[in-house]
Amino acid sequence: MSMIEIRNVTKRYGAATVVDDVSMSVEKGSITAIVGTSGSGKSTLMRMINRLVPITEGQIFVNGHDVMTVPVTDLRRKIGYAIQGHGLFPHRTVAQNIATVPQLLGWETAAIDNRVEELLGLFNLDHATFAGKYPHELSGGQQQRVGVARALAAEPELLLMDEPFGALDPVIRGKAQDDLLAIQKQFGTTVLLVTHDMDEAFHLGNQIAVMSAGKLLQCSTPEKILTEPADPFVQQLTGTSDRALKLMSLLPLSGSMAPAKAGLSHVLPQSLSLRDALAEMIWQGAEEAAVQDAEKVPVGSISMTRLLELGRKA
Ligand code: ADP
Ligand code: MG
Repeated sequence: MSMIEIRNVTKRYGAATVVDDVSMSVEKGSITAIVGTSGSGKSTLMRMINRLVPITEGQIFVNGHDVMTVPVTDLRRKIGYAIQGHGLFPHRTVAQNIATVPQLLGWETAAIDNRVEELLGLFNLDHATFAGKYPHELSGGQQQRVGVARALAAEPELLLMDEPFGALDPVIRGKAQDDLLAIQKQFGTTVLLVTHDMDEAFHLGNQIAVMSAGKLLQCSTPEKILTEPADPFVQQLTGTSDRALKLMSLLPLSGSMAPAKAGLSHVLPQSLSLRDALAEMIWQGAEEAAVQDAEKVPVGSISMTRLLELGRKA
């Protein structure tokens, strides 16, 4: 059973159908990014999962349970929810904000304190400096990290994020995305994330769902979205000019290497994507480079000619 099963879900406000017969599933431990133009129904779809918005037609299952049959407070405590502009409680400290749901769940004080400390550490917020601060004393980026830490506090099996990084500048945004990826890996949390940033969707998503005017146009892997767009709108949204580079960013260097060779002066780690390998070779002015694994053992080689060939095919 998937973590989320959305079956023929429709939402109407009066005569307006804002979510139109959407079906999709989200596997446990994966990240799904929902993209689409403003007003296409992304937030509404997400809010029907934690019942902030009532479903007009259809069914949603979370971890096998129809959300309409689960008491709403139980449902929401199991689902973390992080929104743009963080939504922190202004009169509660950082530690108190993060502790909100564990407190509601009746965790013991020591367990709550441990969890607060662990999360602050994970988000690179020094406990001594930040635990006692109030939201207005933090930068936008710090507030956003506290918002996500709070959503994760009770170890939810599912995290819903509605444009969580929308207000952040590009550098902090990149950092916040990497934090999320690391934490998602560590806890195996299932994440459903709304974003209007296609690069963010491709960077984070194992699966991308494209919405337009209430309809789900396509829900598949980033590779498929790029190579087999189900609709002209999907193709337009992913852009045509940098499609080769986007696809290269999804492919690992380790999958395209030639055999190892002696005597190469430039070295690349095999963990790089083809796109990063290309960028690195341009930067180093390298025609050919040795590829090494994490232990610095040579495992292959790659040439500029080969990389450009791979990009053309992509
Ligand atoms: P998105 O998150 O993709 O930008 P939303 O899900 O917020 O889109 O909204 C989808 C559509 O539903 C919009 O046209 C919006 O105006 C409409 N809508 C959202 N909430 C309400 C509401 N409470 N009453 C009436 N219309 C609404
Ligand atoms: Mg929205």
